[in-house]
Amino acid sequence: MSAAAAGSTECDAVVVGAGPNGLAAAVTLARAGLSVRVYERADQAGGGASTRELTLPGHRHDVCSAVHPMAFESRFFREFGLRSRVRFVTPDLSFAHPLDGGRAALAHRDLTRTRDGLGRDGRAYERLMRPLAERATSVAEFTGSSLLAVPPDIPTAAAFGVRALEQGSLAWGARFREDAAPAMLTGVAAHTILPQPSIAAAGAGLALTAYAHARGWPIPVGGSQAIVDAMVDDLRAHGGEVVLDHEVRSLRELPRARATLLDVTPRAFLRMAGEAMPVGYRHALEGFRYGGGVAKIDFVLSGPVPWSNAEVRHAGTVHVGGTRAEVAEAENAVNAGRLPERPYVLVSQPSVFDGTRAPAGHHTLWTYTHVPGGSVADRREAVIAQIERFAPGFRDIILATSSRTALDVERHNPNYPGGDIAAGAPTLWQIIRRPVLTPDPWRTPLPGVYLAGASAVPGPGVHGLAGWFAARSALRHEFGTRMLPDLSPRKEMT
Ligand SMILES: Cc1cc2nc3c(=O)[nH]c(=O)nc-3n(C[C@H](O)[C@H](O)[C@H](O)COP(=O)(O)OP(=O)(O)OC[C@H]3O[C@@H](n4cnc5c(N)ncnc54)[C@H](O)[C@@H]3O)c2cc1C
Repeated sequence: MSAAAAGSTECDAVVVGAGPNGLAAAVTLARAGLSVRVYERADQAGGGASTRELTLPGHRHDVCSAVHPMAFESRFFREFGLRSRVRFVTPDLSFAHPLDGGRAALAHRDLTRTRDGLGRDGRAYERLMRPLAERATSVAEFTGSSLLAVPPDIPTAAAFGVRALEQGSLAWGARFREDAAPAMLTGVAAHTILPQPSIAAAGAGLALTAYAHARGWPIPVGGSQAIVDAMVDDLRAHGGEVVLDHEVRSLRELPRARATLLDVTPRAFLRMAGEAMPVGYRHALEGFRYGGGVAKIDFVLSGPVPWSNAEVRHAGTVHVGGTRAEVAEAENAVNAGRLPERPYVLVSQPSVFDGTRAPAGHHTLWTYTHVPGGSVADRREAVIAQIERFAPGFRDIILATSSRTALDVERHNPNYPGGDIAAGAPTLWQIIRRPVLTPDPWRTPLPGVYLAGASAVPGPGVHGLAGWFAARSALRHEFGTRMLPDLSPRKEMT
């Protein structure tokens, strides 16, 4: 498609927010031949995929996201050719879950090896996961689209649904006899900050676990910023521009454009639209719920974490919190508005795999823990104590720390209200209706205005899909084309 005649507009499309979704929208529109301008309030592009020196000079920390199974599985990023543009390291050990007594459950990419490490529960775990791991692309396809659409691979969707019902109910322990496999599964389901067990948490956990045994849980060399830098490069190569340090407070401030795509939450959209918002849609957006938050602690260490179980040292990601019952108790406390005494902690150890993160001999460690939304609690000590439980001596190798409360997380990026990194609780209902119940949830009743962020289908994660779907809807409705622009790297040269 050639660039649409702009008429009196300054550019064809305006995007607010340069997170992975905003940039996915911008790249898609620019690749369709449109003139695109992106406004970003921060001083660098990236949103939840930015990397900065948060502690000591020369130590690069992922401010938000760190590990990217969803980027590898995303249809947008596959079309964009992400893996040929950015260098990733994919650990053989996708994630580990330490248990007391120096034991650990280990999720290798190799499912057979994982089975063999899970003792008497190995076969039961394999029966649960193999049908999903072998069809991980199908799993990503339907979990990464509107759940109102008919899934293209119905048998895999059915297998997934049955398993999510089982692992999301009180029958979740029925197939297991020991504690390692259940702890491992709940360690992944707990990413959602939802009550345990619950169907939505189990569904997200099963999808991420399937990816762990398929393309793996990759880490970009140089940090998550490498992903957004590749998107910004592509956007600029196709005539688009990114305006930094520019917060948009009202839609009225924006230049005239045929399409406006917002990588913001419904809450922010309500403020930006003001009186222009139709009442029914306003009520629907006001009913959108935000969930629990995170407190994020980043460390500089004088060596790798001294995990009691030496295998854990080779894992890209570590889920800290003990048994399934302990993780569930911690997560249920957060959902009841309390700070757990022994919290669940997500840990990524990027510098074990990527030497660019810290000067020689030093390591960076990325961690966060769940807290009630809006919490101002500094969770540094609670996180250190939990890691120390499974890695005695951890405290002694800490050289520097950056600790952010849930409220700090929101101040850094308003897309995470109260520290809610999912930009809206990913309950089953809010995954189906995200943020409103319609087959095209990206299109809003305001003419030419689209929601393109993680508060829209398919929800949180660095996959760019909400932006890509919003851009496709805008191309169809505002520019009259159903053609999908080619996003592949070779077009960059034209
Ligand atoms: C601590 C943390 C850890 C995470 N870990 C992972 C992980 O390991 N893997 C994973 O896949 N996902 C992870 N996530 C989730 C992931 O980062 C987000 O789901 C993803 O970044 C959402 O992309 P987005 O483009 O919708 O929003 P964002 O990435 O939040 O980007 C929104 C952008 O819009 C800008 N903006 C907002 N309002 C305005 C305005 N009014 N004017 C101008 N600009 C504005 C913001 O500054 C921001 O740059 C994590 C998130 C956090 C916070």
